[in-house]
Amino acid sequence: TEIRVRQDIPAVLGTRVPLVTGGETGYANLDHAASAPCLAAVRDAVDAFLPWYASAHRGAGFASQVSTRVYERAREVLRKFAGARDRDTVIFTRNTTDALNLLARALPRHTSVVLFDTEHHAALLPWRGPNVVRIPAPRTRLAAVAAVERALAGCPAGPRLVVLTGASNVTGETLPVAEIAAVARRHGARTALDAAQLAPHRPISLTGLDVDYVVLSGHKLYAPFGAGALIGRADWLRAATPYLAGGGATKAVTRHETGVGVTWHTGPERHEAGSPNIVGVHALAVACEQLGAHWDALEAHEHALLERLRAGLAAVPGLAELRLFDDESDRTGTVSFTLDGFEPGWLSAVLSAEYGIGVRDGAFCAHIATRRLAGQGAQAVRVSLGLGTTEEHIDRLVLALRQIVARGARWTYGRPAGRWAP
Ligand code: PMP
Repeated sequence: TEIRVRQDIPAVLGTRVPLVTGGETGYANLDHAASAPCLAAVRDAVDAFLPWYASAHRGAGFASQVSTRVYERAREVLRKFAGARDRDTVIFTRNTTDALNLLARALPRHTSVVLFDTEHHAALLPWRGPNVVRIPAPRTRLAAVAAVERALAGCPAGPRLVVLTGASNVTGETLPVAEIAAVARRHGARTALDAAQLAPHRPISLTGLDVDYVVLSGHKLYAPFGAGALIGRADWLRAATPYLAGGGATKAVTRHETGVGVTWHTGPERHEAGSPNIVGVHALAVACEQLGAHWDALEAHEHALLERLRAGLAAVPGLAELRLFDDESDRTGTVSFTLDGFEPGWLSAVLSAEYGIGVRDGAFCAHIATRRLAGQGAQAVRVSLGLGTTEEHIDRLVLALRQIVARGARWTYGRPAGRWAP
């Protein structure tokens, strides 16, 4: 499947990287959860579009017509990618963080918001007010469903929203989204799914999961930075104060004696003021089309690599994998670990400098989760797989860790610790 995946959905990958030893090696990018490499099809689509981008919606020229078409086509692609219903809208944002902040601003007054305290900061922090319940994350998936149910039962009357991450960016574990959405529904609550880490790995469906909102980021979906989306029920968004005030969001602006009067659009453009990122949105849409056409190959590829990775890591002495849940869950190709006696920042610096392996270390914008799972150091190393990953990358990582453990925490190249930079 690895061969097929690389043929079917080739990515644009950085190839050779310098080593501290003076040589160079093939780059093992094991940091897909942060940002995934651009697909070749995305690069080609952007390349073909670059001569034609112009102001969408406003210009009358041919290029503007092309751009308007490309932009609105992308909305339809995202709608399909997310399994949206007729009542749903697609609003383009900068990324997942932006999309969640937009949703937070669009909630009716006094909405109760229920979420786990282990969420990524993008999902943890945008909600304000006295009715935000941050549940301590439970140790099993069943307990997670029950905890949401208990929290909802204690919420005051009025609108309610459950915010939920589809897959953890720290452990790759997936949450029982459909089960929690069903509980939410029974308690008159809506559900918002942070699919930043789920959408690059599994088909998502507003309809299938019965969730109300989905948010995602293009740069984790094999498109470049700068475009993301909020997809979901239009009613609250149609009624909300525009997220950004400015051109494109208005139907009419008039001068009054005491100020200006504004009639805002009620469609997605209400929250998309300013010249939109048409190139980014196009890239995001093409990436979604590519993934949507190849889920089986992608999942098989990642599953095989994840098995190989976990088997390899299990044999590294002193290595402890971070887990949110005690019970097994479906997992994306993301694994975080600590290694007894080794500082994560030091470890990832050595992996890069000596082995050409790119991982991430720290607390992954999920400080509460990482602190709870990583023990005293409150930091870990994260390895995340994707379309660009090969078996060789995994084997190199596992061998590197074994060698590092065998020789001890020594920096061989004259500096005690810290980051090595090319
Ligand atoms: N949620 C999760 C689960 C994430 O992993 C991330 C990115 N690390 C975000 C939200 C935020 O995404 P972005 O940085 O693209 O806004």
